[in-house]
Amino acid sequence: MASHTPVRRPVVGGNWKMNTDGRGAVALAAEIVDRCAQKCPQTDIAIFPPFCYLEQVGQVIQGSGIKLGAQDVYPGENGAFTGEISTSMLKDVGVSCVLVGHSERRHILNEPEELIHEKLIAVFEAGLQGVLCVGETADQRQYGQTETINRDQLVLGMAGIPQQQLEPLVIAYEPVWAIGTGKTATPDDAQAVHELLRSTLASAYDKEAAAKVPIQYGGSVNSENAAALFSQPDIDGGLVGGASLRSDSFSNIVDAAALSCRETSSESSFQTP
Ligand code: PEP
Repeated sequence: MASHTPVRRPVVGGNWKMNTDGRGAVALAAEIVDRCAQKCPQTDIAIFPPFCYLEQVGQVIQGSGIKLGAQDVYPGENGAFTGEISTSMLKDVGVSCVLVGHSERRHILNEPEELIHEKLIAVFEAGLQGVLCVGETADQRQYGQTETINRDQLVLGMAGIPQQQLEPLVIAYEPVWAIGTGKTATPDDAQAVHELLRSTLASAYDKEAAAKVPIQYGGSVNSENAAALFSQPDIDGGLVGGASLRSDSFSNIVDAAALSCRETSSESSFQTP
């Protein structure tokens, strides 16, 4: 009997980080809608603007099929957490997916594994999509720790989370040395880590559930390198920083993801609330 190929739609996220201003965010969102909305049937697309522009950007992309994402969240309920943003606030402005454990939060803001884990739980409990970001530093790669670091970050992030909550999970493998540096993992090196992450999920849950989880690659993805990366069997699209700040390059990357689609599912990976 022929084996069943897993059904995974590619997912492409645009992480705007601490960039744009109000007017620029609205203009960029409008251009992305113009260039990318028609590609939503083949690819799940989300943009992650700064918190303060979420509502404005949400109004621009409303009804386009492009999802509104947040770059971070705090795991507490509303209350005395000065400067933080809760899942209910994010839902209130139309957010449907959240980045958790981005390398800039892990390494610049020293976010510990326990907090990342709590954030992921809060995101799932709120019924939001969680994009768990993992990745090794240059030193860790040089000292042969790539597998251990990525496996540990995934296992610690997902600890105790039951199989039914795998559905709203997206993983982003983002080698720290590749983020914002112009250096990209080779397609083979990236595939090796994606395969490891999928087999780690298969050991923790089961093979069938693991086969359904989209695993994005992130780290200096651009119009030129996207197609080769996304053609790898376990690379399901990309999380894009710098190149997502221009609608033309972001749109080219979405095209590369759509082309890489091995089988199309009717279900969206990024969910609307
Ligand atoms: C990111 O912010 O997640 C990222 C991958 O950035 P860049 O594409 O600029 O490397």
